[in-house]
Amino acid sequence: MKYVSTRAGSAGDAAPIGFLDAVLAGLAPDGGLYVPQIWPTLTTEEIAGFAGKPYAEVAADILSRFAGHEIPHDVLLEMCAEAYGTFTHAATCPIKQLRPGQFLLELFHGPSLAFKDVAMQLLGRLYDYALSRQGRVMTVVCATSGDTGGAAVEAFRGRANTRIVALFPEGRISEVQRRFMTTAADANVACLSVEGTFDDCQTLVKGLFGDDQFRRAVDLTGVNSINFARIVAQAVYYFTAAVALGAPKREVAFCVPTGNFGDAFAGWVAKQMGLPIGRIIVATNSNDIMARAFEDGRYARGVVAATQSPAMDIQIASNFERLYYETARRDGVETSRAFRAFTETGVLDLPPAALATMKELFSGASVTEDETARTILSTLNETGEVIDPHTAVAVAAANRATLPDGMPLVILSTAHPAKFPEAVQAATGAAPPRPASARRLDGKAERFDRLPADAETIKTYIRDFART
Ligand SMILES: *Cc1c(COP(=O)(O)O)cnc(C)c1O
Repeated sequence: MKYVSTRAGSAGDAAPIGFLDAVLAGLAPDGGLYVPQIWPTLTTEEIAGFAGKPYAEVAADILSRFAGHEIPHDVLLEMCAEAYGTFTHAATCPIKQLRPGQFLLELFHGPSLAFKDVAMQLLGRLYDYALSRQGRVMTVVCATSGDTGGAAVEAFRGRANTRIVALFPEGRISEVQRRFMTTAADANVACLSVEGTFDDCQTLVKGLFGDDQFRRAVDLTGVNSINFARIVAQAVYYFTAAVALGAPKREVAFCVPTGNFGDAFAGWVAKQMGLPIGRIIVATNSNDIMARAFEDGRYARGVVAATQSPAMDIQIASNFERLYYETARRDGVETSRAFRAFTETGVLDLPPAALATMKELFSGASVTEDETARTILSTLNETGEVIDPHTAVAVAAANRATLPDGMPLVILSTAHPAKFPEAVQAATGAAPPRPASARRLDGKAERFDRLPADAETIKTYIRDFART
């Protein structure tokens, strides 16, 4: 199985590469995103066969269709068993009924209590596998507004072939989020509290990748949500949830709290592979670029507003380029033109045919701050479930949806409420219960360095760290 860039065919495009190379590369050198040359498909018998299987086995099966012969099946199985062995729920990603026909898919039972663990735990092990065979050590950098940093540190700490540097904006992430990163005692972890905003952190990281000499010197790599392995790992729970609710005999709908569009795109992938998904509702907070795109056909950058669901405070949804490429009949030249223009102008008008194809599966819904808080409270009162603000955005969107009779709706629950105690407390008057993985951070020493938002200072720091 080879991977092509969404900008293939344009001037200076990237050549097709194998699965592990695509994983280590993250972004393609032509600025595009990697997608498989051909989407693998499953028969209805194969999908039905997932019923009752352990999560790790389904994950290994699906991953093997993308990794091809590059990773032996027993190795994949062991990797998945280890990755999902870190989850505290025996079902890994359990579903829980909320109301008639409405279900929560709990994706937050991993080590950092957010759904990013599902993909990141696997990614850490894929990196180890690929790099140990090449005798290579890479430096993972990630800028985080909260959840990604914790999940990345948990996934990469203590690994022999990677070191991880997490940059977060000083004073702008919650204490729980910070402690998930800074309490890791492993020597291959560096946490940087940057005197600036999240945008400053992202700009700094982009600058590191833009400096060829520096990039080679520390063998830099990124693990943000455009990494193709993260998408594949996220497609798995669409299968396990849908099969538990009657697929492939029955169509199932999903509602996804969305920021960078990686999670929602993973649903598109599952459908492409043969899973009967009737609808995907893309739920956003007031940062509604994706909801607007599906509504009026105009993908247009807005000003980022801070909300109670900070992991979705994004006004450029990087993974949307993948959906655009697919609905533009895989025309890499057109995709390259469209997204280069978008970078310049901040606006992309979707071709009517592409928009129509997107709308066959996707619809958008944006949810205000008030509605989010009210939904946390009403969900507690009506169902007894305490939900986090990201999940609440999706529950609010789901409550508005009209679906064909008998089609179950699965709402992706992306964070444990204990990760956002202030928002839950404000909405319900009570702090959410704290699971053991949050309590274990109490009293642990924190380790991080404070640095100015200055590219040269950060480079020097990382160079020194990479030498140790
Ligand atoms: C990252 C994140 C999201 C958004 O996922 P995307 O793949 O970026 O759309 C939603 N909820 C939580 C809690 C997250 O951490």
